[in-house]
Amino acid sequence: MIERGPDVSFANCGLPYQIGGEIPDRAELAIQTPESLRALLNLDVRTLTEAVAINRANKQVRVRSLADGAESVIAYDNLILAPGAGPLRPPLPGIDSPLVHTLQNLHDMDRIKSAAAAVDHVAIIGAGFIGLEMAEQLHAIGKKS
Ligand SMILES: Cc1cc2nc3c(=O)[nH]c(=O)nc-3n(C[C@H](O)[C@H](O)[C@H](O)COP(=O)(O)OP(=O)(O)OC[C@H]3O[C@@H](n4cnc5c(N)ncnc54)[C@H](O)[C@@H]3O)c2cc1C
Repeated sequence: MIERGPDVSFANCGLPYQIGGEIPDRAELAIQTPESLRALLNLDVRTLTEAVAINRANKQVRVRSLADGAESVIAYDNLILAPGAGPLRPPLPGIDSPLVHTLQNLHDMDRIKSAAAAVDHVAIIGAGFIGLEMAEQLHAIGKKS
């Protein structure tokens, strides 16, 4: 398994609730580690490693270590693509402000927690379920709209 992030299998559903304090222990969100997956399923899991090219003829994936930039090649018989999806950042003027956040992983969560500690008012763009969960949890820690 090739994962460019530092974590595997964290509980995305709990991210808003750690921000709001309903899940006080950050460690509860980290369900598995590369070590536990090796022990459980004999998996070779490489975090901080990005897939950068697929050579279909040779059945190889080129990967780059995000720790030191070193590239290497991994051979496969079959390849499964499961790269997920990122939050849409519409091309609005001001979108690149450091005060604008998206929530997808533990590091986004940490950034939002520390940014929220310094402000009283928060606006949320998008009233889908993540927007509503964030509204509920930010309200719980005393933030105003
Ligand atoms: C805040 C939040 C709350 C949510 N709450 C719920 C909920 O309550 N219930 C529910 O059912 N769903 C919930 N979801 C949705 C759920 O988390 C996603 O549907 C699910 O994680 C999608 O799984 P996935 O494996 O397709 O993608 P992801 O979980 O996004 O995993 C894809 C992984 O691929 C990695 N990757 C991408 N490109 C590369 C590359 N080139 N090289 C190496 N690695 C790469 C990414 O770093 C990522 O870790 C929530 C999501 C969020 C963000």
